Amino acid sequence: MNRAIVIGGGLHGLSTALHLARMPGWQVTVLERRHVGRHSSGVNAGGVRRLGRDLREIALSMVAWEMWSNISALVGDDCGFQPGGQVKVAENAAELGKLEARAAQVRALGWTHEEVVDQAEVRRLLPAIAPHVVGALVCHGDGSADPMRTVMAFRRAAQEAGATIIEGSGVTAIERSGAGTLRVVTEEGTHEAERVANCAGAWATRIARMAGEEIPCGVKASMMIVTERLPHFCTPTVGPTGRALSFKQTVAGTVVIGGGHQGLNDPERETSTVLFGNLAHAARIAAELFPCVKGARIMRTWTGTEARTPDEIPVIGESRTMPGLFHSFGYSGHGFQLSPAAGAAVAELIARGATNLPVAPFTQRRFDA
Ligand SMILES: Cc1cc2nc3c(=O)[nH]c(=O)nc-3n(C[C@H](O)[C@H](O)[C@H](O)COP(=O)(O)OP(=O)(O)OC[C@H]3O[C@@H](n4cnc5c(N)ncnc54)[C@H](O)[C@@H]3O)c2cc1C
Repeated sequence: MNRAIVIGGGLHGLSTALHLARMPGWQVTVLERRHVGRHSSGVNAGGVRRLGRDLREIALSMVAWEMWSNISALVGDDCGFQPGGQVKVAENAAELGKLEARAAQVRALGWTHEEVVDQAEVRRLLPAIAPHVVGALVCHGDGSADPMRTVMAFRRAAQEAGATIIEGSGVTAIERSGAGTLRVVTEEGTHEAERVANCAGAWATRIARMAGEEIPCGVKASMMIVTERLPHFCTPTVGPTGRALSFKQTVAGTVVIGGGHQGLNDPERETSTVLFGNLAHAARIAAELFPCVKGARIMRTWTGTEARTPDEIPVIGESRTMPGLFHSFGYSGHGFQLSPAAGAAVAELIARGATNLPVAPFTQRRFDA
């Protein structure tokens, strides 16, 4: 039996563990410093979005979308996935021009999932949208899911596949231990394994550093708002083109507003804090796009800490200083959607040393230049 340790019980760690535990001959242990879903995987906006992806991410995002479309088959739960579509609206003619250029760029690469629609179609899709909106880029089949329910489904499925999950177990060192194995040191003791996955989110560069590898990556603390329940007025997830916002109404009627407005991060203390000035900006944009939410009561706000690479696409690949250690981090605000496919890719890299899944653009070698 081969042994693998997965560091980090976020969605990427759990997905890697699930896919690997289902492969014959692998005994998988997840080490999570706090509890499963403690950081970004448990507090994100649940956006399942191919729309507007970095061109290098589209192929992996398409594989992930196939998996989301039948997520019950993968994890035995629908994860609350609602494929209500994602819509990026243009607030003026110049923005519509940008969306048309983007759609042409995506089409030129052979993808057809992003489609420009005119003002009448935007009104049909979003009857409550502000009248100044002139068109949009639409991706049907995208949507959103329930983050914590998704985490729990992946956790359960990984455990049912035979993975062991140890919470309250923070990794403090990784060493070579001879005979092709790595020793992973935690506050409680040590684990030996042939392969290790670094899925430690905002702390993954520290794990890389333990292996003597410097990978450029910072942290971010995106903020979210949830309002009181409102009568149903919006099915797709919506964002503007020229401003930062993500806006969706849940089946319960609450409106969830995010889009990358930043709070304060303190990775040392593993906390982040809401900056209400920045959050007010998000609320203002939301009310300008959907006048019906003006005056809605805000029930809760929060932030989540996560890793952000300089080019905002992840790092996926084997360590260059410690063979046997595989990185998967730096999802930079959009890793929820990618998690089913990225976990499959990392599991294949670990088990077979190669994967046909489209993760080549994510090598850390890209930072060499
Ligand atoms: C507010 C917000 C909204 C977002 N919205 C979306 C969205 O709509 N759509 C989308 O696709 N993405 C979204 N994201 C991004 C998405 O949540 C992340 O990209 C994804 O969850 C990253 O998962 P992860 O497993 O890499 O990291 P995490 O979920 O952060 O997991 C890393 C885990 O590693 C553990 N860990 C760290 N160090 C150690 C150690 N030394 N030993 C053991 N364990 C350790 C941590 O405790 C943590 O549990 C959002 C993120 C935030 C914060």
